[in-house]
Amino acid sequence: MSSFDVVIIGSGPGGYVAAIRCAQLGFKTAIIEKYAALGGTCLNVGCIPSKALLASSHHYSDVAHFAEHGIEVSGEIKVNLEKMIARKQAVVDQTVGGVKFLMDKNKITVFEGLGSFVDATHVAIAKADGTSETVEAKNIIIATGSKPSNLPFIKLDKERIITSTEALKLPEVPKHLVIIGGGVIGIELGQVYLRLGAQVSVVEYLDRIIPGMDASLSKELTKVFKKQGMKFYVSHKVKSVERNGKGVVVQAENSKGETITLEGDYALVSVGRRPYTDGLNADKAGVKISDRGMVEVNDHLQTNVPNIYAIGDVVRGAMLAHKAEEEGTMVAELLAGQKPHINYNLIPGVVYTWPEVAAVGQTEEQLKASGIEYKAGSFPFKALGRARAGGDLDGFVKILADAKTDEVLGVHMIGARCADLIAEAVTAMEFKASAEDISRISHAHPTFAEAIKEAALAATDNRALHV
Ligand SMILES: Cc1cc2nc3c(=O)[nH]c(=O)nc-3n(C[C@H](O)[C@H](O)[C@H](O)COP(=O)(O)OP(=O)(O)OC[C@H]3O[C@@H](n4cnc5c(N)ncnc54)[C@H](O)[C@@H]3O)c2cc1C
Repeated sequence: MSSFDVVIIGSGPGGYVAAIRCAQLGFKTAIIEKYAALGGTCLNVGCIPSKALLASSHHYSDVAHFAEHGIEVSGEIKVNLEKMIARKQAVVDQTVGGVKFLMDKNKITVFEGLGSFVDATHVAIAKADGTSETVEAKNIIIATGSKPSNLPFIKLDKERIITSTEALKLPEVPKHLVIIGGGVIGIELGQVYLRLGAQVSVVEYLDRIIPGMDASLSKELTKVFKKQGMKFYVSHKVKSVERNGKGVVVQAENSKGETITLEGDYALVSVGRRPYTDGLNADKAGVKISDRGMVEVNDHLQTNVPNIYAIGDVVRGAMLAHKAEEEGTMVAELLAGQKPHINYNLIPGVVYTWPEVAAVGQTEEQLKASGIEYKAGSFPFKALGRARAGGDLDGFVKILADAKTDEVLGVHMIGARCADLIAEAVTAMEFKASAEDISRISHAHPTFAEAIKEAALAATDNRALHV
């Protein structure tokens, strides 16, 4: 029987990063993945393929603005969805290949098969060819991730009533895509198909889309998306989703008890994700799973069984790839006797639509609810030279700072390139910057980043320069 210092179950961004860090720290490491492709949800059916389709559809939507830039296109410009999806798959395959390369480079043993606990130090691997092998481990990291959630009354047929996984490889551009759930995943995929010509309707139970983020971001994104033609039914509770021949019928009820009926050709159910532990046999090792299906962990990501840890989507906290990665690194370093720390307040959240939406720290709603006195400074992108030069005028940066100390408590932004701009806010907050600190840093001109400096100036003393 092979024996390892650390065995990791699941090769998503949590698992494979944990494996690399364990190997770097000198542990004899193995990783078990039930699929042939490494990389988990993120690389195969999540972050990477969705961003590939967002990029392709963005290029297509840019064509509408060519004329104003003096670019004349003769002939018809058409979408070849099959080719677009094939390109997406090529990007995925290349990225997955990169993870395999990293496993080999770091001398990590990769097992393909379903990992199930035998006891607290042994994991059985059931392989596709029907054989099984058991490995021994001093320490085990559970990184089994998550799967799409569903509503109890919806029967997913994965053909017309689909999850994000199928939405990444549709055979045609829908005529009318009805999206159930206005969270990040639904909204991103909605914009892909909206750009490609679909009518897109979003039905959301709460009173706004991207409900976890600052309300000002939801408001601005809704405004921009409505301009682009997306339809929203917020404060609507979905009552039924049924197949109707080649189409779907979605019924939802508003707060007054009135029922609306939406007929489409596809219904995308994106109502969140649930932690995944099927087949893991966690009970054989005595690992506690919560009522909501999460592996329970303490602040050190350790389960109730001392040599077993859990990270990523399968434990509490934001279901984000970079959060999973930080946790993978943290467990490896804890095992090596180091004292790592994760500041969960500074895990940024990003929506990769255009405009992009990004945030870190506390929202205005959270600050109000906890009675913290704060000041807010905002700056609109349309007042920036760089935004005008490129024609990306939507959105703003908002900085929330402590009313007394001026420490930055939250940064919320929507606009071009915000997914990358948010890194400045994370860095500043990690070093406990005040709004004035940011306002005194030189920002290259002309850049979108100047909006951060201007918002900081606005928060410091209401002294933004360019509005
Ligand atoms: C459409 C979509 C878009 C997304 N976009 C983003 C984004 O832009 N940015 C972002 O930060 N996050 C994004 N996410 C979320 C991100 O994918 C997850 O947060 C991330 O993948 C979680 O990583 P993980 O390592 O915890 O688990 P996963 O990536 O889910 O990996 C878990 C792995 O474990 C394997 N596994 C499970 N059980 C077993 C077992 N018993 N034995 C062996 N293997 C097992 C699974 O097959 C899987 O490969 C997106 C998700 C979706 C669905």
